[in-house]
Amino acid sequence: EFAMGSSTENSAYKKTRNPWNLNKVPGGSSGGSAVAVAADTAFYTLGSDTGGSIRQPAAFCGVVGMKPTYGLVSRYGLVAFASSLDQIGPFTKDVEDCALVLNAIVGHDAKDSTSLNLGKIDYTQNLKQGVKGLKIGVAKEFFGEGLQPEVRKSLEEAIAIYKTLGAEIVDVSFQHLDYALSAYYMISSAEASSNLARYDGIRYGFRAEEYSDLVDLYKKTRSQGFGDEVKRRIMLGTYALSSGYYDAYYKKAMQVRTIIKADFDQVFGGCDVLLTPTAPTTAFGIGEKTSNPLEMYLTDIYTVPVNIAGIPGVSIPCGLDNNGMPIGMQLLGPILSEETLLKAAWAFEQESGLTNLKAPLGTEV
Ligand code: GLN
Repeated sequence: EFAMGSSTENSAYKKTRNPWNLNKVPGGSSGGSAVAVAADTAFYTLGSDTGGSIRQPAAFCGVVGMKPTYGLVSRYGLVAFASSLDQIGPFTKDVEDCALVLNAIVGHDAKDSTSLNLGKIDYTQNLKQGVKGLKIGVAKEFFGEGLQPEVRKSLEEAIAIYKTLGAEIVDVSFQHLDYALSAYYMISSAEASSNLARYDGIRYGFRAEEYSDLVDLYKKTRSQGFGDEVKRRIMLGTYALSSGYYDAYYKKAMQVRTIIKADFDQVFGGCDVLLTPTAPTTAFGIGEKTSNPLEMYLTDIYTVPVNIAGIPGVSIPCGLDNNGMPIGMQLLGPILSEETLLKAAWAFEQESGLTNLKAPLGTEV
């Protein structure tokens, strides 16, 4: 519902299941889009990524998912969650398809005031040039506590593959990454509380059937129409924006945002691409985290800094865990480095053979 959550369990309609194991979540919120591709029911789909909702489901479902630079793809027509973080991007089975879909969806749109005007770019042009001499950064902050051992091992193998391909692996480090998740949940909830104010039962959308007066119509419509997670965010966001707490929460979070951006700038001063896990674990069980919102929020720890900084990121498969569930690797780069990211992703995909993975419970079985 309204693109919130990391599992599709907040959906206003139905939960989506993971085609690698039906008792596991597909990730989220764009888990449905990831599954449509993973289960071979579509060549590509689009998702919206506010804090990881393309990359994390791509990782959980063994497909490629990319969040482009903020402003590269028009948000016109997208239902807004947190407008300064939201970005649309593709899910595909391989990296070349990702480049092709990106070619089609990138471009200036006068109807989105944040849309970039860069002219035509062909993301397939330099795709197969290899990674010789490319500086790939690895930061210990992305390999901390809570990282599933098999995810760590797969990432280490990926680093070894990049070395064989001629890339240079460099150590980089962040100063303030620990604050990214808290800042994200402040900023995204604040923006959501403002964006969702329009669902008042008057202009469009759901309206409560019985009410006594206008205020009662607002109250009943919003109480009945929104799910628990959406209400939680609206309350948190409204609180953070209220006059007495604005400086302590919203303003502070915006200051953290500036610092995190500066952290990324400094890191990309020392490398072309940053290699990280997409999520700390592989897909978790349906129902496993629903009773603890904080634990659910923690699954976004490696994806949200990217939206805070507005930079691009792609998640590609890099192995399977001991239960046969896909592991995702994330490649990040500075603003508008999509070509470099796709080039690095393609080189790994070719060398590892981890492409076009077949989900055991996809439609072809
Ligand atoms: N899981 C994150 C959240 O709930 C990200 C969602 C998204 O990217 N749409 O906010």
